[in-house]
Amino acid sequence: MEKTLCRPCAEGFGSIGKIKALTGKAVKITCDACGRRRFGLRYEVEEKKPAVPRLDANKTSLYKLVSEFQVLPTMSRTRFSKTPRTRSWWLRWDGGGEICEAYLSESWGDAVLSIRKKDWDGVTTYQEAFRLPVDKLREPGMIE
Ligand SMILES: [Zn+2]
Repeated sequence: MEKTLCRPCAEGFGSIGKIKALTGKAVKITCDACGRRRFGLRYEVEEKKPAVPRLDANKTSLYKLVSEFQVLPTMSRTRFSKTPRTRSWWLRWDGGGEICEAYLSESWGDAVLSIRKKDWDGVTTYQEAFRLPVDKLREPGMIE
C-alpha cells in the first residue's frame, strides 16, 4: 500500500512493518498518517499482521496449568493425551470417586481450559471453562 508520510510517521511504520521510500527528496506533503503538513516522502508500506500465537502443550506444562485450578494427584497418576490432528490436549485423573478431565484447546487466539468431573455413573458433577489470555500462558512455555 502506498502512503505519503512525514518522517516521524514513517519511522513509526518502520517499527511495525516493512517500509520503502519511493521518492528520494523530501517535499512538503500532507501526511497520510497524522494529517500534518510536513516534509516527507512517498512510501510503499507493508503492514505486518500481528502473529497469532499458537498453543503448545506437553504433560508437564498442562499439569502445571491445571494445578492452578484444581487439586491434582502427583503427575505420574495423571494421564496426558493429545487429540490427533488438532491442537488440543487432555489431562485425566482419578479424583477419588470422580473421573476428572481437563481439556485445553485454542479459540480465536485464546486458550480455553475446560475442566469436567463425572461420577462413576457418568453424571457430570462439575464443569467449568476458563478462557485464558495468552500472557498467562507465556510463562509456562505453552506458546509456540
Ligand atoms: Zn505524519
